Amino acid sequence: MQNESSLRIAIQKGGRLSEKTLSLLENIGLEFDNYKNRILVPCRNYDVELLLIRDDDIPEYVQDGICELGFVGHNVTAESRADVTHLRALGFGKCRLAVAAPKNSPIKSIKDLDGSRIATSYPVLTREHFEKQGLHIKTIEISGAVEIAPTLDVADAIADIVSTGGTLKTNGLVEVETILESEAELIQTNQPIPADKQELIQKFLMRMGARQQAEKSRYIMMNAPSDAVEEICRIIPSLKSPTVLPLAENDLVAIHSVIPTQQFWEVMEELKAAGASGIVILPIENMIV
Ligand code: ATP
Ligand code: ZN
Repeated sequence: MQNESSLRIAIQKGGRLSEKTLSLLENIGLEFDNYKNRILVPCRNYDVELLLIRDDDIPEYVQDGICELGFVGHNVTAESRADVTHLRALGFGKCRLAVAAPKNSPIKSIKDLDGSRIATSYPVLTREHFEKQGLHIKTIEISGAVEIAPTLDVADAIADIVSTGGTLKTNGLVEVETILESEAELIQTNQPIPADKQELIQKFLMRMGARQQAEKSRYIMMNAPSDAVEEICRIIPSLKSPTVLPLAENDLVAIHSVIPTQQFWEVMEELKAAGASGIVILPIENMIV
C-alpha cells in the first residue's frame, strides 16, 4: 500500500537500532518486504512507508516534515537540537553520553578538565554540559574511534556513547561523569499534519502502546487448594483482579492473572510456598487496557 498521503517514518539504515526498530514495527502487524538495499520501503498492509537513512539525518528529516515520525536514539535528537516532539521512549538502544579520561591521568572529576581538550562526536551536548558548570573546554570533533584520541594526544579526555563500558576499559579510559542518559525514541514532526495522517498516527500509537504493555506483562496460570486463594491473590502483583475458576477435583481451583514480567521470578517461590502448583507463564501478544 502506498499513495500520496502515506505516513512516512524514518528509521536507521543498517545500524544498531535497525533490527529492533523493524521487529517492533513487525510486532504491531506491519509487513514490509525487500527492505534490504532500498531507501523507501512501502508497507504491504498499512498506509505507511519507511525511509531508511543514517541516524544523524533522522531528526532534521522529521523536523522539516519530510517524515512525520522517526525512530532514533535520544542522544542523536538532543545533539541535533531539532524542533520535534518526543512521543515515546522505546526501551531499547540504552546508552549514555559520558566523559571519560585516561585511567592514569590526574583527571578525577569534571572540574579537573577546565581548560582541556575533549574529543567527541557530540560537541553541542558536551559544550553545553561544561558551560553549565562554568568550565571552559575545547571540543575536538571526531566522527569515529573517539576513544583513541587521548592515546594519540589529540585530546585530554573524550565524551562518547557508552553502554557496557567495555570499549572504554579496553582503551584504558575511566568514566568521569554522565552528560546524558539515552534510549531509542519515537519522535514526531511539529509541522502541520493533515487529518488523515493524524488518524494513522493515532492508530499506530495505539498499536504500539498495546504491544509495549503486553511485553511488560505475562499471563500466569496455576492450581491451588481453595483455602489458599486469599493468600495467593495477596502475593500476585496483579495488573487486574485474578480470575478464580473451580476445578473438577475437590477443593482445587485454577487462578489466572496478568503480572508484570519483571516480578515473576520474585513471587514464584512465594506462590509455591502458599500451595500453588502447575504454575504456567505465557507471553501476551497484545494488551489493550
Ligand atoms: P549511522 O551509520 O546511522 O550514522 P552510527 O554509527 O552513528 O550509524 P550506531 O553505532 O548504529 O550509529 O548507533 C546507533 C544508536 O544506537 C546510537 O546513536 C545510540 O543511540 C545507540 N547505542 C546503544 N548502545 C550503543 C553503543 N554501545 N555505542 C554506540 N551507540 C549505541
Ligand atoms: Zn550516526
